[in-house]
Amino acid sequence: MPPKIKCRVANCIYWQDGDCRAESITVAVEGTPNNSSAHNDRDTECETFRARA
Ligand code: SF4
Repeated sequence: MPPKIKCRVANCIYWQDGDCRAESITVAVEGTPNNSSAHNDRDTECETFRARA
């Protein structure tokens, strides 16, 4: 079973009441297009984020 994703980015189209409703998400090291290593949690980002219009 995939992990339940809790999220606090309330203006994302996939966000609902503190949960992520996307089928899957991609988390990457901020600013790097390929596989890379993060130094800490702040180096990471959700690339699936889409702002609510
Ligand atoms: S897609 Fe990313 S930013 Fe959007 S609700 Fe899910 S985890 Fe949060």
